[in-house]
Amino acid sequence: MKDHLSKAIVDGIRVYAAVTTNLVDEAAQRHQCYPTATAALGRTMTGALLLAANLKNKECLTVKFAGDGPLGRVVADASSDGFVRGYVEQAQADLPLHEGKLAVGAGVGQGLVSVTRFTGLKEPITGSCEIVTGEIAEDLTRYLYVSEQTPSSIGLGVLVDKELKATAAGGFFIQPLPDVADSALDQLEENLKRIRPVSAMVKDGLDANGIIGELFAGRDINYLETVDLAFKCQCSKRRLEEVLLSLGEADLRSLLDDGQAEVTCQFCSEKYCFSREELAALLQVSLKLSEKKE
Ligand code: ZN
Repeated sequence: MKDHLSKAIVDGIRVYAAVTTNLVDEAAQRHQCYPTATAALGRTMTGALLLAANLKNKECLTVKFAGDGPLGRVVADASSDGFVRGYVEQAQADLPLHEGKLAVGAGVGQGLVSVTRFTGLKEPITGSCEIVTGEIAEDLTRYLYVSEQTPSSIGLGVLVDKELKATAAGGFFIQPLPDVADSALDQLEENLKRIRPVSAMVKDGLDANGIIGELFAGRDINYLETVDLAFKCQCSKRRLEEVLLSLGEADLRSLLDDGQAEVTCQFCSEKYCFSREELAALLQVSLKLSEKKE
C-alpha cells in the first residue's frame, strides 16, 4: 500500500488519517535508527504530516521535540502537499522496552515541544509547550490545546520488527468544528476509549479511509480527499555549499588541507563529497565575501 492521507467530516468533526509505513521505514533506513528512534521519529513525522494537512498550498511546518532523553532532539518538517523529512539526534540510542513497548517517552525525556508554521507571507510563527509524556501523540494534542487553543485528539503508532524494519505506521487527527453537537462529541469520546492502537489497524491492512471508518463506526462519514505521502528532503549540493561557506575561512582552509570533505545532510543522511578543487573555489568565494564585508 502506498503512503497516503485521507480527510473526512463526520457530524461536525474534522478527521484526518494517514498510513505512513513506507516513509517511516525509509527514514529509519536512511538514519540507521534503532527501534525506539524509529518509533519516536515515525510518530513525529506522521504527526507533522497530519498537522500540515490543515495548512494551505505550499505552506509547511516543523515539529521539534527538544527533550533531555537519550534520543536527543526529534525533528520533522512536513508540507501541505504530503512531503516530510526528519531526523533523531541519537538514532542509535538503545533503550530497554517499557512494559513490553518501545520506550519512546523515556527516550524523548523532559523539555519542550514546538511547532513552527511557515506560511510564506510573514515571519514563521513558533509556539511551544512542555513535553508531558514524550510519547508524541499526547504531547501534540496538549500543544494544540495549550498553545493554539485548539481541542483535538491525535493517535500515532509505529511497529518495528526484529530486522529494524518499520512494518506498520500511521495516525489520525480529530478536530471538532465550531458547530459540533455535544452528542457527537460524547459518542466520539466513547469510540476513542474502545479503539485499538492505530498501528494495529495499519498492520491489519486498513487504509486511511478504513481507519476513519473504525474511529467513527456506524456514523455517516463524508469522505473528502486523499493525498499521497512521501519522504522527501530539499537538500542539494548547492545548499550544502552554503553550509560550508557559513563555516568561514579558517575551517574551509583546514578542510582544504585534508584534501576533500564529505558533508552529510542531517535530515536525510545523504552524503555530498567536495573535491579539493571545489573546496578551493569555495574558499575563494568566502574570501571575496569577507572582503565585501570589510
Ligand atoms: Zn537531505
